[in-house]
Amino acid sequence: MDFVTMLCIVSERQRAMPNTTIQTAPSCFDSIDPTSLSLVQAQQHILAACPPLTQSIKRPLRDALGHILAQDIISPIQVPNHVNSAMDGYALRGEDLPNAATKNFELVGIAFAGKPFEGICGANQCVRIMTGAPMPAGTDTVVIQEQVEQLDAHAIRIGTGHRAGQNIRQAGEDIALNSVLLQAGRRLNPADLGILASIGIGEVSVYRPLRVAFFSTGDELRSIGETLAAGEVYDSNRYALYGLLKRLNFDVLDMGVVKDDPDLLEQTLKNAAANADVVLTSGGVSVGEADYIKAILNKLGQIHFWKIAIKPGRPLAMGQLDQATFFGLPGNPVAVMVTFLQLVQPALLKMAGETHPQPLLMDAICQSRLKKQPGRTEFQRGILSRTAQGQLIVEKTGYQGSGILSSMSQANCLIVLPDERDTVQAGEIVQVQPFNW
Ligand code: AMP
Ligand code: MG
Repeated sequence: MDFVTMLCIVSERQRAMPNTTIQTAPSCFDSIDPTSLSLVQAQQHILAACPPLTQSIKRPLRDALGHILAQDIISPIQVPNHVNSAMDGYALRGEDLPNAATKNFELVGIAFAGKPFEGICGANQCVRIMTGAPMPAGTDTVVIQEQVEQLDAHAIRIGTGHRAGQNIRQAGEDIALNSVLLQAGRRLNPADLGILASIGIGEVSVYRPLRVAFFSTGDELRSIGETLAAGEVYDSNRYALYGLLKRLNFDVLDMGVVKDDPDLLEQTLKNAAANADVVLTSGGVSVGEADYIKAILNKLGQIHFWKIAIKPGRPLAMGQLDQATFFGLPGNPVAVMVTFLQLVQPALLKMAGETHPQPLLMDAICQSRLKKQPGRTEFQRGILSRTAQGQLIVEKTGYQGSGILSSMSQANCLIVLPDERDTVQAGEIVQVQPFNW
């Protein structure tokens, strides 16, 4: 049991015995620990210490999906590059449209996408036209085929109610010539690949992926395939962290489980720092626990040990190990994921070159009572959904202990309860941050 857990249990017992006079050190049950950093302060410190990488590489368009653009993309063409029909129908001159009665038009040709009508469409004439076909010279309006009566092979009849200029797409209405289509710092999504292809670009410059080495620490940890003795647990943090890192397209270097052994820890930290931009560990940064980890970290680099006013995940170490940026996450599996999402991920995204990576927050009606003390930001696990009436509602995922990883697996959002917030009653509005996409 680490020191923080011990203090919490002492403090819990005290609550059960209100007459006791025993004084305890600050604990995770205290509403405000004056030595803690606020979440915002911690985020600011971390972001300020993490400059973006500048190296870029060229990638073929398909391989650039999910990577971060390292160049502004200026469009060398306009899209569409010609005025064309938005519908299957008949192209004609808007000024010829009938106002009061039906009117016959002479059919003089046909235009396909990729096979234009080469002639000129004169007064009271029309051209059969397919979606995407360039508008024939002289025409500016398309009447859709469902609103036309075909009289014979050479004539059609049109009624009233049409508007000159309808059902056409203007040249450049999607992308203008020489416009900045995409800016550096953007993570490329499927639509981005599409628009890059639409301007004929087959290769782009993206930032090289961040290389992140990570390992778990703890004598009680076993790897998958090993047999658990009493008191031992399978190492789950490395798998959750792998998932969190991989979906951001980082290069990952999994360095396994390392025992609470000073020499091994030192060797592994050095090895990780020599081979990665970022080193992540989990476990062993709680107050008072395994002090040699701190000693090693202090020997190898400049590391800060912070208590942050968040729950779960109060302890966090951060600093520089040689050229690598180091983050020491807490050990409890939910705390690992929450501190990663709130504190580490924004910093890694900035290092990887992504701009504006702020998470989207939404308001939802809370269906559960959420116990909370003012003075720290809490992240409870929730399931966000939409009622038949269209309201966003959120329900907590059962017991919210920082070791209950199933609460994280069931959740599709974090319920964000800011510092000043007290216990939330069912029916109140809360902010939620979707994740697990
Ligand atoms: P620590 O911060 O090292 O005191 O760990 C806090 C709690 O998290 C303990 O119950 C550990 O057993 C658990 N824990 C630490 N690392 C892992 C891990 N990699 N996988 C699962 N549980 C862990
Ligand atoms: Mg440990």
